Amino acid sequence: MKKTLLFLLISISIFAHDGGHFGGHDVLRIWHLTDGSIIRGNFSSATSDVLILEQFQGAKVRVPIANLSPQDQKFAVVKINRSSRMNGFVEVDKPVSYLPYFNLLALAFFALLLMEKLRLRLVFRRFAYSSFLLAFVALACKTAAEVTPITPSAPVTAIPKTSVSYLDSAFAPYKPALSTTSDATYFYVNSTGLPAHNMMVGITAWQQQVPIPQPYTGTNHWSIPLQPVYASTPLSTTNNFMKGAVALAVNGVPIFNALNNRGEDSFAIGELDQWGGHCGRGDDYHYHAAPLHLSTVSGLKAIAFALDGFAVLGAKEPDGTAMLTLDTNHGHEWKGNYHYHGTTNYPYVIGAMRGKVSLDPATPAPENQILPQAFSSSVRPALTPLSGATITDFSAPTSSSYNLTYKIGSKTGSVNYSWNTSGLFTFNFTDVNGTQTTSTYQRK
Ligand SMILES: [Zn+2]
Ligand SMILES: [Zn+2]
Repeated sequence: MKKTLLFLLISISIFAHDGGHFGGHDVLRIWHLTDGSIIRGNFSSATSDVLILEQFQGAKVRVPIANLSPQDQKFAVVKINRSSRMNGFVEVDKPVSYLPYFNLLALAFFALLLMEKLRLRLVFRRFAYSSFLLAFVALACKTAAEVTPITPSAPVTAIPKTSVSYLDSAFAPYKPALSTTSDATYFYVNSTGLPAHNMMVGITAWQQQVPIPQPYTGTNHWSIPLQPVYASTPLSTTNNFMKGAVALAVNGVPIFNALNNRGEDSFAIGELDQWGGHCGRGDDYHYHAAPLHLSTVSGLKAIAFALDGFAVLGAKEPDGTAMLTLDTNHGHEWKGNYHYHGTTNYPYVIGAMRGKVSLDPATPAPENQILPQAFSSSVRPALTPLSGATITDFSAPTSSSYNLTYKIGSKTGSVNYSWNTSGLFTFNFTDVNGTQTTSTYQRK
């Protein structure tokens, strides 16, 4: 009898840890590394290239994802995608409750006493042992695999819903070039993405892309949430949102991460014009720096709205006083609400997304773009950087044509282009040796 009970106890403890669950603090997942070694820990969080594992008693360890075995790299991606999709929800490792263990053990103990007393045949006793073990394992699994929302350490402040009239007044100076609508959830902006100010002049790192009107209309309009919600953990722009826009300027031009899609400070490396913008691979004009020049028209009003719904102000507070100290998100609370500020130094507009945003599950960090957002569309294949070129002049001969002039050394080249109402684009290129070419493209 004593022997049997001991066997039962050992079996239970083996079964409880053998199932490969990474739920309990004392049940750590084993990660295999490429050099053959192993590391124990449960997925906690991750940056673009480092996995942070939680070990015994909450100790954290950083593991470069590249050092994991191919199979565990795949597993890491699944965990990262799952946690970013939950956006504000993380898989919390729940300590396994030991109460069911003791209940079961007590039950098993009395059952065994009874069976010994009745002198049941061995086969019945074995059947009884197995049933208890199975029930116990099922219970342990159920306790471990649960997903719990983060409990914020400080109470979440209720953020007032942004009024449509406030948003409308910020975008109003740029009508009718852009138009706005709204429903109960979003304020929508239709625009071409082309500003009224000049563009392109001053760029010294040019990819040969030029601004063309973009179809940010209809279902491809910009959407600004009317009810911002604080994110439990603001996502940093240093390792997130390197694809797509993070904000929309009040003139209908999107604002991208200060870092380009290669992770470089776009402004610092000469990619931007005098207005803080340039064109992407779809010939889509966008800012990477703060369009503080919009304050000339906007005054103390917002110069942009982040895609989390919070306003981006210029260099002053709404009451005209000097800008308060900014937090790491590049903003601060103001009268029960929150806003960002545009500045002339990195990160220029947003350091981390203070509000909760939905992420595109198809594009993992750092290229995790915010949804919903408007998408640019190209009419021609993307070009390559033109070494040594500086854009010296840009003009609009008509409302549907632009002339761009650049210099390489003392030689001048140009791109003169136009489009018509049926979406036919005609490009006339003159390179610095005087060679001329013409290309036409039809927008589909
Ligand atoms: Zn860009
Ligand atoms: Zn402020």
